[in-house]
Amino acid sequence: MATDTGTAPDLALVIVAAGSARRFGADKLLQPLAGATVLEWAVRAVQAAFLSAPTILVAHPDRVGEMRTRFGPRGVAVVPGGARRQDSVRNGVEATGLSDGGVVLIHDGARPLVPGGDVRAVAAAARRSGAALLVAPIPDTVKRVGADGLVEETVPRRGLARALTPQGFRLEILRRAWAVARDAEWTDEAALVESVGGRVEAVTGDARNVKVTRREDLDAVAAAFPRRVRVGQGVDVHPFAAGRALWLCGVELTGETGLAGHSDADVALHAVTDAILGACAAGDIGVHFPPSDPRWKGAASAVFVAYAVRLAAERGMRVVHCDLTLLAEQPRIGPHREAMRARLAELLDLGPDDVGLKATTCEGLGFVGRREGVVAMAMVTLEQA
Ligand code: MG
Repeated sequence: MATDTGTAPDLALVIVAAGSARRFGADKLLQPLAGATVLEWAVRAVQAAFLSAPTILVAHPDRVGEMRTRFGPRGVAVVPGGARRQDSVRNGVEATGLSDGGVVLIHDGARPLVPGGDVRAVAAAARRSGAALLVAPIPDTVKRVGADGLVEETVPRRGLARALTPQGFRLEILRRAWAVARDAEWTDEAALVESVGGRVEAVTGDARNVKVTRREDLDAVAAAFPRRVRVGQGVDVHPFAAGRALWLCGVELTGETGLAGHSDADVALHAVTDAILGACAAGDIGVHFPPSDPRWKGAASAVFVAYAVRLAAERGMRVVHCDLTLLAEQPRIGPHREAMRARLAELLDLGPDDVGLKATTCEGLGFVGRREGVVAMAMVTLEQA
């Protein structure tokens, strides 16, 4: 089915996030999840299925301002919720401005993993049948357990299903059900329509569309998202200087002309450090280790790499790969390559196969060709830890 790109507002989205339940010490809807929050993913998931549909977020009255700041720029209108969930839904539905023939999809803000195909399928079913909801099968045997912790019975599973969201309704069906049910209580709008004798079509959806209520739900949902990946680049240049030791990748190449610099002038490790800092958008090595600071005079550059790795870890990222290229007429890298790779792998806490080390001359061209200095270029890949 094609994504709705029409301009007529015959379909609207209502996301319910008005509960005041606080779990894990914080509002579960604002828990970080794959670079956003549970609620942001829930909103994105339904919006992605119907890009041009009016979208209403029902927020706890205390948080309307905060939610407008967060979601206003995405074209989401925020309205305050009511005393009960059903009152909140009604506030949201009334704010859609739909005509009676329009379809409203009501989605739970704690369900960040609904596939776009499921959202469109429930909308189509609601258009066809007047009322529809997503369901998922129950794979486990179901028991009724008494207050004393003893099993009372095994509930026949045939015909049982978990109720998910979104749930979709033609507005006229909802309005009629509200009028008949008056002030009764219901747990979801499908139950409301059932209670007044209406027919509700069940659409089997993706079972991973869970409601995040406990810490383990959040972990399971997070595992379904691809890991965040960042790539950083670092480049450094140092001139040769007589009378200094040559350090490359944390290895001393004895008998070779060294490089000038405030620290040990390990041009390779400086490039790697900058690449990690770059991936973290955390400035460059000069910001964190100013050359004017006497502490870093003659310092082993391994310290800088360790610092950058730690900074990345504090931001929830770890290095998973490094590719380094040296531009130099001298020294010959070949005889030292394996020792340099091994040391770099050790500094980055990687296996030897996760570190690439290449070297090239510049065919006599430029400052490298004139043997005035060495260039190092590093590329690192970081993954969400
Ligand atoms: Mg440097």
